[in-house]
Amino acid sequence: MALIVQKFGGSSVADSDSIKRVAKRIIATKKAGNDVAVVVSAMGDTTDDLIEQALDMDSNPPAREMDMLMTAGERISMSLLAMAIHAQGEKAHSFTGSQAGFMTDARYGAAHIRAVHPHRVAEALSNGEVGIVAGFQGVNPDGDATTLGRGGSDTSAVALAVALHADVCEIYTDVDGVFTADPRIVPTARRIPMISYEEMMEMAASGSKILALRCVEYAQRFHMPIHVRSSFSHRSGTVIIPQGVNPDTVPNYE
Ligand code: ASP
Ligand code: MG
Repeated sequence: MALIVQKFGGSSVADSDSIKRVAKRIIATKKAGNDVAVVVSAMGDTTDDLIEQALDMDSNPPAREMDMLMTAGERISMSLLAMAIHAQGEKAHSFTGSQAGFMTDARYGAAHIRAVHPHRVAEALSNGEVGIVAGFQGVNPDGDATTLGRGGSDTSAVALAVALHADVCEIYTDVDGVFTADPRIVPTARRIPMISYEEMMEMAASGSKILALRCVEYAQRFHMPIHVRSSFSHRSGTVIIPQGVNPDTVPNYE
C-alpha cells in the first residue's frame, strides 16, 4: 500500500467524458489498495478563457481580482471530479488551495508556497476518501486567494506529495512521459524512461513545457520521485528520481 498523489492537467479533464475517465483511473488506483490524493488543473482552456474575460472588463485588472477569478477554474474541475467519483460509487472530498492548507506569500499571479498544512486532505484520506485539491492556488497572509503562476498545478502536486509524505507524485498529461523531442511533432522521438532532476530542470529551463521548473526544483529539494505519464494510456512514462535511487522502488500503478 502506498500514498500516491496524482495530478491531472487541463487536457486530461477537458470535458465531462474526460473527467469520468480520470475518476475511473483514480478509483482503480484506490481499489489496488492505495491512498490517493489528487491535484487538478482547470478544464481545457478555462484559464485562458478567464484571462480573456478579465481583459474584456479591464485592460489592467487589479492583481487581487485576477487571482480571485483565476482560482475559479480549478474549483470547477475539482468539484466535478469529486461528483464523478461519487457517481462511480467511491467517496471524494474536494478542497480549494486555502482549504488544503497551501500558505503562500502575497505575490498575486506569481505566489510562492511558504508552507503546506494539508490536515483536511490527510483526514479525508484516513476516512477512505479521495482527497482532491485545486491546483495552482493558495492563500496569502491576508486570507486572500493567490495563484502560483501559469502551469503552477505541477508545483501544487509536488508540494502536496511532500507535505503528505507520499511515495510518488504522478503527473498525468497527454503524452507518455518525457521524450527526446515532442512526439506529437517528431514521430521518431523516443521516450526517456528515467531522468535526473538536473536534466529535467535543464529541459524546463530551455522551454520544454513538460513540467514547470519550480515543480522540479521543489521535488529535488525534498527528494520526491515524480512519474510523468499519460492519462490516455496505461504505459509507464518517465520517472524522475534522485541519482542512485533504484526506479523499481517507485510505486507504479495503472
Ligand atoms: N490552470 C492553470 C494554467 O493553465 C494552472 C495549471 O494548469 O497548472 O496555467
Ligand atoms: Mg491549465
